[in-house]
Amino acid sequence: MERVSPSRLSDFKQCPQLFKFRSIDRLAEPATVYQARGTTAHLALQRLYGHDAEARTPERLFDLFREAWTEVRTEEYPDMFETVEEERAWGIESMELLANYFSVEDPQEISPVDCELDLLEEVNSVQVRGILDRIDQDENGDLIVTDYKTGKAPPQRYALPAFFALKIYALLTRKHFGRAPVQLRLLYLNGPTLYSLDVDDQQLDAMERQVKALWDAIQRAEERQSYPPRQSKLCDWCSFQSICPAFGGTGEPTADMQRRPDRAPAA
Ligand code: SF4
Repeated sequence: MERVSPSRLSDFKQCPQLFKFRSIDRLAEPATVYQARGTTAHLALQRLYGHDAEARTPERLFDLFREAWTEVRTEEYPDMFETVEEERAWGIESMELLANYFSVEDPQEISPVDCELDLLEEVNSVQVRGILDRIDQDENGDLIVTDYKTGKAPPQRYALPAFFALKIYALLTRKHFGRAPVQLRLLYLNGPTLYSLDVDDQQLDAMERQVKALWDAIQRAEERQSYPPRQSKLCDWCSFQSICPAFGGTGEPTADMQRRPDRAPAA
């Protein structure tokens, strides 16, 4: 591997075996209705900010969601729904989630610096690539990084680990803009809930060291060809449980498992 994303670093931290399945073996995971909703909602929210402030209404966002779904359903989720009724029910539920967005923030009051910003930066000698959902500037000119989540918001006491990947996005932001963001925000549409975390250079310096330590651990794992499974309650949601050594599997993909295509180059 020449570069890594915040999500894949997060995988390794959670479970080296999961990292291997996803990043080394590049095994495809079954597409779910939740992923389809996440992909489509992200696209719609990104495009909402391509419109003038006064046009950023719930109706516009719903239209953008429908348009985005028309684009991605054939290409990425061709067999997602067996019946039109199922698809319609999913669409209605998705609209309800999107409507929640307007109870968390008013998009007519926000002037993003950028949306879906694709960054590739060297962080403490590690090449890290990530796509930021949205970056704003507050009235003092300070940067704020926002990440949209369509999954269910965790209770507040479990929210801190969810900031792990976002802190790496903060490192990318610091590199790209030459200054650290002052705040990171996780905006959960399913809640709806907004968790925020203030950050400073000192915290981000510590995060840089953690990124390097994780990268070194990945290199060692590769040299030794050793990616030990680390069981946790998250195993319940792991797509690879059936082949995981911790659950009696061989660690090898079965013949019917697909591999994901190679990564697209960073923009
Ligand atoms: S089932 Fe659990 S231990 Fe196995 S790869 Fe998945 S997360 Fe890791």
